[in-house]
Amino acid sequence: MLTYKEQKNVARWFCEAEIAWLQDQTTDSESLQALRSALDSQPATDRWRRRLESFDRLIAQRRRPTRDDEYVRHWGYGGIRLFETASGRQIYQISIRSFPGHDTHCYYLHGVEPVLIDIGSGLPSNGADWNARGHVLDAVYGIDETMRSLRHLVISHGHVDHYGFLPRLLELARPTIYCHELDARVLEQFDERIVLAGLDLKRYLLHAGVPADETHALIELFSEGREYFSNCAVDIRLRDGSVIPGGGEVIHVPGHCAGLICIRFDDLLFTADHVLQDVTPHQAPQALNPFFGLEHYFASLHKIADLTGIRLALPSHGPLIHDLRSRVQDILYFHQRRLGQVLEMFAEPRTVAEIAQELFGDLSGYNVILGIEEAGAHVEYLHQHGWLRVVNVESLRTGDTTIARYVQDPEAMKYRKEPTVRGRSS
Ligand SMILES: [Zn+2]
Ligand SMILES: [Zn+2]
Repeated sequence: MLTYKEQKNVARWFCEAEIAWLQDQTTDSESLQALRSALDSQPATDRWRRRLESFDRLIAQRRRPTRDDEYVRHWGYGGIRLFETASGRQIYQISIRSFPGHDTHCYYLHGVEPVLIDIGSGLPSNGADWNARGHVLDAVYGIDETMRSLRHLVISHGHVDHYGFLPRLLELARPTIYCHELDARVLEQFDERIVLAGLDLKRYLLHAGVPADETHALIELFSEGREYFSNCAVDIRLRDGSVIPGGGEVIHVPGHCAGLICIRFDDLLFTADHVLQDVTPHQAPQALNPFFGLEHYFASLHKIADLTGIRLALPSHGPLIHDLRSRVQDILYFHQRRLGQVLEMFAEPRTVAEIAQELFGDLSGYNVILGIEEAGAHVEYLHQHGWLRVVNVESLRTGDTTIARYVQDPEAMKYRKEPTVRGRSS
């Protein structure tokens, strides 16, 4: 079995090898060689190996691929895959490398009112990726749409791997920009937001027990993001129940991000970062934003699981989700287990930073922030629901320390069952 990271490399190599074949009919591209050596030792049933065999059959025909080829229909081509909804609406998944080792799937809804959902980060490599995808869309799928003619752009949420490319797009085109009202501020007052979010994060890291000098360095790192974006106006603010051009229905799912939305197109559901197939989406405490936190996230998961008639879910990262309800159940179960595990760690007084260290080991760079936020979301949930209490309230009051130390609440431990992810105390 390939690791999660290896699978991402393999996906990228396929994309590059397919583009090399499309452009020059090259069968000795570096990517294809890398694929052969990575997949040679994999079992015949491995899906990546089956894909390579299928690709070999395609190139044996020595002609340009088209959207009707079996390979293209099944696996997609050059970073693009086509899906059709029950009523025949066509949705193209367009994968862009937003950061090293990290792809964002953007979605293009073809039709009378074409719509693009998300646009990737602001890294210069994104521009090259968009050019390459534009070529594939034209040459393989027969769609001659360019960035210049883009009319509608929906941003799924205020995370930079989804909206960061916006200022560069606006140099070329003037689409109508849509975003949930709770994240519109991230795009419109980015300069204000990065300062205020930095201050909130600083307070939280100190509260969590990260040493002052390390906190300072982490906030510097966090603030570097300001170089990659400049304020952009949002034309239309979305809410739960809004309908975007082309008929997609907006479902507000706060938790992973305040203004995160899923969008339903008939029997297909775009899940953005709310539900992903191979990782549990990142969580941060409500202390950083009133619409973050596990309480919101669990409610939003139930909201999605309650939908009927969803055949396939299209996420922003990683593989497709064929069984949305069971994936939601798995994610809820994962958090249920992690809450139990974190609660056990509080037999003795501990800080959030100590819990993060125990859960994730030694992290470095931006991953320290992500680890503290993830641990913090679980600690906060247990505290909000009465499983934990703070032991050093007096020192916090007098200002002797900024670091909160939590411990299991003895009453809760005596009388209550394990923490529940339903959002209600058992
Ligand atoms: Zn996100
Ligand atoms: Zn994302």
